[in-house]
Amino acid sequence: MQYLKLSDFLNLKEELPFLLGVFFSRYKFSNDLIYTLSTYRLSKFVQNGDKIIYENSKIEYLNQLNLHSEIPMWQLNKDKKIKHADFVFVLYNDLKLTQEQFFARIYTKILLSDFVSNHEAIKARKKFIRAFFELRGSVDINHDYFTHDYYFNNINELKRISLFLDNFGMSINLFNINFRYLQKQYLSGVRKRNTQLRINLHWYLSQIGFINGFINKYKANIVKNALNISYFQVENIFMFNCQSPSINKNSFNKRIDFYSTRILSNDLTQCEVSKLRKELNFDDDESQIFKRNLNIINIIKFQTPDECAACKHKYNIVDRSFLTRKDRYYTEIHHFVSVGKNKELDVLENLTKLCPICHRALGVGKASENYQKELIKNILDTNSLNYEFASMIFESKDKDFLIQRVYENLK
Ligand SMILES: [Zn+2]
Repeated sequence: MQYLKLSDFLNLKEELPFLLGVFFSRYKFSNDLIYTLSTYRLSKFVQNGDKIIYENSKIEYLNQLNLHSEIPMWQLNKDKKIKHADFVFVLYNDLKLTQEQFFARIYTKILLSDFVSNHEAIKARKKFIRAFFELRGSVDINHDYFTHDYYFNNINELKRISLFLDNFGMSINLFNINFRYLQKQYLSGVRKRNTQLRINLHWYLSQIGFINGFINKYKANIVKNALNISYFQVENIFMFNCQSPSINKNSFNKRIDFYSTRILSNDLTQCEVSKLRKELNFDDDESQIFKRNLNIINIIKFQTPDECAACKHKYNIVDRSFLTRKDRYYTEIHHFVSVGKNKELDVLENLTKLCPICHRALGVGKASENYQKELIKNILDTNSLNYEFASMIFESKDKDFLIQRVYENLK
């Protein structure tokens, strides 16, 4: 069996949008090996479900996978323990990481990639999205969705979708998933059922499929025959010429539901929701696809209590801030871990609400080292998401170590 050492994979300096996309979508551990996979089913829409055509298409598809991957090491799956996988890419777990540590490493690598922070890197971004969806997704003709198995093993599952919403600026309306239901089952832990994540197929075809296309000719034929949309081939890609759907804009409630599962324990009434909508001036502009989405910052700003994570145990916000015209105390949103000069990671876990005084004091060289470290410690103690995030970035649970690292990275 051909495999790549995990340590080599993680240390590669090159951007790996395709492989990161597919590993972010799904991986399976088997002994010392970590698999990611691709598969597709026989379809009645291709030559009436002819089995030989289906089987033959796999050879061509395997070539395609290798052609589009940064590292051409895809192979046919021979491990019977790895189910629903015709094609696999295998890593050897030389670092002996647990599944959770592995996810953290992959997620961090993605967040630090140029294609996430650089909003011009649209081609690489699309490559990532394609690997995430096309390699395991099946075409749902009846509902116009590209459908995907989605498992709620743990909170990491939510990070998957928040990457698309917060970092890629994709509208929540493109996705089909029941967040309220998820919240209940997630919180109670009573029933953790597999759910499907679906993405709007016409959007996918026009935004991902048109510019970059499908790489799987068999899937392209399903779409062509079932939806009557023709494709054309440019080099090794099958591109579709179709319109992006107009999407209804009632995403506010869904988005709030989504964040409720992550940060907010309050269950808003309809009245509170409409008040918030007004406050936020919430507008989901579909033309902003792939642009940075600042709504996450606003949601935290308006939906979490007006208190400072760094000094709330010492001071009342009344003495540290002022009332704004909206009758709220003025606060600022701080990026807890700074990753680079021009990079800020707008992920929920990296954001924290501060009073203007503490925020100012956390600029590099703006206050004494001891004072800055005290503020950082307070934030770590107060905001568990920030703690989780810093632990992931710096690969340690040790608070003193984290305080030191966050301090060194202030800017
Ligand atoms: Zn403060």
